[in-house]
Amino acid sequence: MESDGESVAGILDEAAAMATELAELRRSIHAEPEIGLDLPRTQRKVLDALAGLPLEISTGRELSSVTAVLRGGRPGKTVLLRGDMDALPVTERTGLPYASKIDGAMHACGHDLHTAMLAGSARLLSGHQADLAGNVIFMFQPGEEGPGGAQIMVSVGVLDAAGERPVAAYALHVISSLLPIGVLGGRVGPIMAAADALEVTVHGRGGHGSQPHSAADPIPVTCEIVLALQTMVTRRFDIFDPVVITVGTLHAGVADNVISDEAHFAATVRTFSAQARERVADEAPRLAREIAAAHGMTATAEFVPGYPVTVNDETETAFVQQAIADLLGDGRYITAPNPVTGSEDFSYVLDEVPGAFVFLGACPPGTDPWTAPFNHSAQAVFDDAVLPDGTALYAELALRRLAAS
Ligand SMILES: [Zn+2]
Ligand SMILES: [Zn+2]
Repeated sequence: MESDGESVAGILDEAAAMATELAELRRSIHAEPEIGLDLPRTQRKVLDALAGLPLEISTGRELSSVTAVLRGGRPGKTVLLRGDMDALPVTERTGLPYASKIDGAMHACGHDLHTAMLAGSARLLSGHQADLAGNVIFMFQPGEEGPGGAQIMVSVGVLDAAGERPVAAYALHVISSLLPIGVLGGRVGPIMAAADALEVTVHGRGGHGSQPHSAADPIPVTCEIVLALQTMVTRRFDIFDPVVITVGTLHAGVADNVISDEAHFAATVRTFSAQARERVADEAPRLAREIAAAHGMTATAEFVPGYPVTVNDETETAFVQQAIADLLGDGRYITAPNPVTGSEDFSYVLDEVPGAFVFLGACPPGTDPWTAPFNHSAQAVFDDAVLPDGTALYAELALRRLAAS
């Protein structure tokens, strides 16, 4: 049996030798971005990249997912590696030679890199099939940016693709700022927020703007609810288990001298624990309804669930940190002080399987990670140079985790 040192250097060298093909795949996906659950061209590129490998491949019915299973030459457990494949409704303004050819679609969240790295790791691990002590599920997922491909893939059985539940699941996510290129960042516990919505309609009774007493004006009541939500956040919730409520739309009325029949607003609600999420789901709609009632009106208030909190397992996060140190050297992993307030549907996988979700800094060399445009910006740039290390890390996590179980 090889020593760890030899196998680690081998994986890294093998991934480095794939740099050109990884960049070509990534740029081809980048130039033709697709949005949502239906990504036929991207799916075709993944299937082409996996062609000829000793994989059991299946594709989704309700979405253009690709699930591939590699069965190792030695018996053992199963691990899952995930890469998302979808782009965003953004018109690219990077000026890159391989920039999106499609107006209104851009890989502004770097999922093109995830797809290329995951496909690369399938090729890399296929070369190590004989040494592999168990199975690897490669989860190529559409619809991360909405409406939620991971939940669909979980519901149709991606976790059982190898015949038994994985013992661990891992995902990498590139970011175009905040981390220097090639540096990984993670943390134990919540790493991304839950993202839910609150939809409120206050039902009043319209009338003449000069005679509010003969109408029921929903606007002041709505304003009161918006402010009371902020008071609720600071007075009713633990500051160390934070809640963010941002009212993003607010609509009522047609003219300055007309009292409208109703007013409507919608808010995004971010939480970092299942407990806080459950409480805010209960209390925010009640607050809206009861403030309306206090003014003799009614309110329809609905908490619309989105992605759950993404929670990293303590043991698996320590495992990933050690694998990064051994594979890539010291100084390549930092512990993030706080979760990120965005959300991620890998949370549905981590709700079922212990694992870790880790960021990979990918801003181009020479740019300042603190000021570079962030993910989702039309100017976000992710550098190809991170592809070999990311590919090697996916492969190393699977090899090492299976060897340990
Ligand atoms: Zn994104
Ligand atoms: Zn993303």
